[in-house]
Amino acid sequence: MPATAYDAAAFAEGLRRHGLVVPSGVRGVIGRSAVFEGVVTAFDAAVRRLARDDGAEEVHFPPTLPRALVERTGYMESFPQLAGAVHSFFGSELEARALCACIHAGEPWSDRLGMTDVMLTPAVCYPVYPTFAGTLPHEGRLATSLGWVFRHEPSDEPTRLQSFRMREYIRAGTPDQVVAWRNDWLERALGLLRALELPVRSDIANDPFFGKGGRMLAVNQREQQLKFEVLVPVISEEAPTAICSFNWHQDKFATVFGIHAADGAIANTACLGFGLERIAMALFQAHGFDPAQWPAAVRDVLWP
Ligand code: ATP
Ligand code: ZN
Repeated sequence: MPATAYDAAAFAEGLRRHGLVVPSGVRGVIGRSAVFEGVVTAFDAAVRRLARDDGAEEVHFPPTLPRALVERTGYMESFPQLAGAVHSFFGSELEARALCACIHAGEPWSDRLGMTDVMLTPAVCYPVYPTFAGTLPHEGRLATSLGWVFRHEPSDEPTRLQSFRMREYIRAGTPDQVVAWRNDWLERALGLLRALELPVRSDIANDPFFGKGGRMLAVNQREQQLKFEVLVPVISEEAPTAICSFNWHQDKFATVFGIHAADGAIANTACLGFGLERIAMALFQAHGFDPAQWPAAVRDVLWP
């Protein structure tokens, strides 16, 4: 039974009332209960079982990455509105006292900080591309990573977070290899999500590119079918929520990081990301706020 009648406010209230989500006071920054985390962990394990025979190299990064890496990828041209750059204090004791005086007086204090060498990771795949630099083996490469990402998009919508996790798989190879891999995974992901009895469908999508120039990029991305999403109704039946995404970057990251296919040509890359908090929320909406009451078939997939 759906938890709510596809209503954002009722769903947010239900997550809170059942103790699944702990509001922090800032929109899109939430704490999660053990039950919520249990669903995230179980879903991630189900994905990894599905990918068991693929031989993905597993790699772990912190939720911060070198600012230079973000600068090189052109992220600030495409998504400046989503970026998070870490600033800290570099001044003297006198300046530190002035900083705190500002804070206690309720005045702005950002101009007393300076930029550090790190930013908050915008997508789990970003720190992986530099590890592919050089010439790939004939079969290309495949990596996987789970991590926290930051996107500055504060919202009252319970499914739109500023800090959330993605399980990503990242593929590099020839254009044929990465496109075949992406298409195969789209079907696999739909199969897994349907086994979880989620009413999913896939669709062509675009990223939220910034500004007027961004509109052209978004049109181009759709025309070339570079991005697909799997959608499921969570807070609205008319505007379903994207719970995973499949991106073909063509040679964008390969050019920046010097990734070559075995024949020497510049490689292509693709990635797919499961939005773990959104998938947990989609399951709560589809089957109710208590996982102990979920259909046996769904529980069997998550907790075999
Ligand atoms: P990139 O194209 O930069 O590599 P990506 O594919 O790694 O990006 P997206 O397609 O933007 O990342 O997002 C991946 C998944 O993360 C989405 O399908 C969604 O499930 C989840 N997600 C995206 N934005 C949010 C958000 N604000 N809150 C919660 N989950 C989100
Ligand atoms: Zn990615």
